[in-house]
Amino acid sequence: MKRTIRDFDWQDKRALVRVDFNVPFERGTTRISDDVRIREAVPTIEHLRGQGAAVILCTHLGRPDGKRVPELELGPIVERLSKLLGAPVGYVNDAPGDDAKAAAGALASGDVLMLDNIRFWPGEEANAPDFAGALASLADAYVNDAFGTAHRAHASTEGVAHRLPAMAGLLMEKEITFLGGVLEHPARPLAALLGGAKVSDKLQVLGRLIGHADELFVGGGMAGTFLKAQGYEIGASLLEEDLIGFCAETMERAAAASTPITLPEDVVVAERIEPEVPTSVVGIGDIPSNAMVLDIGPKTAASYAQRLAGMGSVVWNGPMGVFEVPPFHEGTRVVAEAIASGSVVSVIGGGSTAEAVAHLGLAERMSHVSTGGGASLEFLEGKELPGVAALDEVQDAH
Ligand code: ADP
Ligand code: MG
Repeated sequence: MKRTIRDFDWQDKRALVRVDFNVPFERGTTRISDDVRIREAVPTIEHLRGQGAAVILCTHLGRPDGKRVPELELGPIVERLSKLLGAPVGYVNDAPGDDAKAAAGALASGDVLMLDNIRFWPGEEANAPDFAGALASLADAYVNDAFGTAHRAHASTEGVAHRLPAMAGLLMEKEITFLGGVLEHPARPLAALLGGAKVSDKLQVLGRLIGHADELFVGGGMAGTFLKAQGYEIGASLLEEDLIGFCAETMERAAAASTPITLPEDVVVAERIEPEVPTSVVGIGDIPSNAMVLDIGPKTAASYAQRLAGMGSVVWNGPMGVFEVPPFHEGTRVVAEAIASGSVVSVIGGGSTAEAVAHLGLAERMSHVSTGGGASLEFLEGKELPGVAALDEVQDAH
C-alpha cells in the first residue's frame, strides 16, 4: 500500500505538492473553461493546511518544451485556486532557483505558494537529477496528487520522490483505490466496456482484461474492425486493416479464457459526421457500402445497458459512438445511464469517456471518474506508473 498524506505529521513542515492543473482555456483567452482539475486538488491542499503544513504547489500547463512561454504562465490558475480556497496564493516565476527558495523559506504554516509552469525548465521532462534535487530542497516532504501525469517519469512526478518522504495526495489515493480495485479485487461479475476510436489504442488493455473480466462489451469506432474480422462488411467505417487478424484471434482467445466478447448487433450509420445528416439504424449484416458506423444501435444499447446494470462492477474506457456530434451520442448516453444507476461499482477512464460522462451530467453518480486519460489506460493495462511506483510503501514509511 502506498503511503498517503494521512501518514505524516505536517505541523510546521513544507509540502511540495505536484498537482495536475493542466486545465483547458477558452480559445485565445485567459478564461479557464473547465476547472475540475483544480477543484479536485482542493481536499488535499485543505488537508495539508489544516494539519499545519505550508503548501508549495507545482504543475505543468501545455507544452512549453523547456523554455518560458508567457501565455503558459499560471496567473489565471493561481487566481482561480485562490478563489476556491478563499485564501491568498503566492506565485513565484521560478521553480528550481533562488527566488523559489526564498519564497518557500518565507512561508508560514497554512500558506500556499505556486511555483511557475514546471515545463518551462528542460530538467523537468528530462528528469534531470540536479533539477529534481533543486525541487526537493524547497520542502520537507513530497506529495503527488497529479494522477493524470503519473505515467510520465519527470522530475516533479518521479525524480523528486526519491529525495524526500513521498506520499499520495487524496485524489491520487482515490485513483489508486478504484482503478487498483478493479484489477485486484473487483466486485464480480466484472464487465469491461471498451469503445473509442481505435483498436490500436486498446491492444494492451484487451490483453490485461481477457481472462480477468467476466465479460467484455465492445462499441465505438473500434467495433468496426472487430465486425470486419467476423466477416461483416462495414462500408466506409473506420477500419484498421492490419488489426483484423488480431481482432479475430482476440475473439477466440477471449472465449477460451471465459471472458466472452459481445459485439454490436445493430448500428447507427450515416454518410458524414454532421449534426443534421440523415441517419439510419441497420443490423450489422446490412451496413451500406457508402455509410459509416457512427454509434451502436438502439437494440445493442438497450441490451448492453441491461446486462451492465446487473454487474458487480463495470470499468469503461471509450465512448460508444461519435458522442461529440448528436445524434451519435445516444448509445453512449444509454449505457452511461445504466452504469450510473443501481449498485454497480462504476469506474470510468479519463479522457473522452470522462468528458462524455461529465457532459451527460452523470459524473457524480459514478463510483469513480478518473482524472487521467493516458494514465488510467496504462494503469488498467497493468503497467506500473512511474509516478505511483516512486511513492513510499506504507511499511517503509518512517
Ligand atoms: P480518448 O480521447 O480518451 O483517448 P479514444 O481515443 O479512445 O478516447 O476515443 C474517443 C473518440 O472516439 C471520440 O472522439 C469519438 O468521436 C470517437 N469515436 C467513437 N465511436 C466512433 C466511430 N464509430 N467512428 C469514429 N470515431 C468514433
Ligand atoms: Mg485516444
